[in-house]
Amino acid sequence: MPEQQLERPAEHEVYLGLGANLANPAAQLQNAVAALNQLPQSSLLAVSSLYCSRPMGPQDQPDYVNAVAKISTTLPPLALLDALQQIEQLQGRQRKAERWGPRSLDLDILLYANQTITSERLTVPHYGLAQREFVLYPLAEIAPQLTLPCGTPLKALLSKVPVNGLQKLSESCRW
Ligand code: ATP
Ligand code: MG
Ligand code: MG
Repeated sequence: MPEQQLERPAEHEVYLGLGANLANPAAQLQNAVAALNQLPQSSLLAVSSLYCSRPMGPQDQPDYVNAVAKISTTLPPLALLDALQQIEQLQGRQRKAERWGPRSLDLDILLYANQTITSERLTVPHYGLAQREFVLYPLAEIAPQLTLPCGTPLKALLSKVPVNGLQKLSESCRW
């Protein structure tokens, strides 16, 4: 009998951006981390500190809490996006017409292994990664030696993006 080849699905390292500015944002992020720890076909490998950041877009909203998490997963990109959106929904995310409006939880795929993805539902690397201090600094905390699929080292991006008030979570954040 021919030897059976059992192929294991490939594991991919993925970086996720977490953000919230409603309904006790720090607790929202902690709940999100607990949910990421339960993602199917995945393991949670690292989570950055929680950071406090100024809002993008409309300024009449509270500061954000942000973090970056690293997982290893065999979920394909769109299945992962579905799972992340389900977690957002479970934590009360309401999508409104206003772009970058306040939200109880945002989970974005920043990087999916070394892949570049351009589809209707998914752009990876995340299109805002290179400009957003609240993504770059937490990412650098857990992956200082990271290089993007285009070959640019993360450190080269960091040196171009000002901190813009980003700080590790403290009492001075505006909620
Ligand atoms: P931004 O994308 O500027 O951070 P946002 O996170 O508030 O804004 P959402 O309302 O959470 O935007 O998502 C809008 C759509 O973006 C989602 O329905 C999803 O299909 C799409 N999308 C595209 N690329 C990504 C990605 N890398 N991670 C998460 N969602 C993505
Ligand atoms: Mg986002
Ligand atoms: Mg999002």
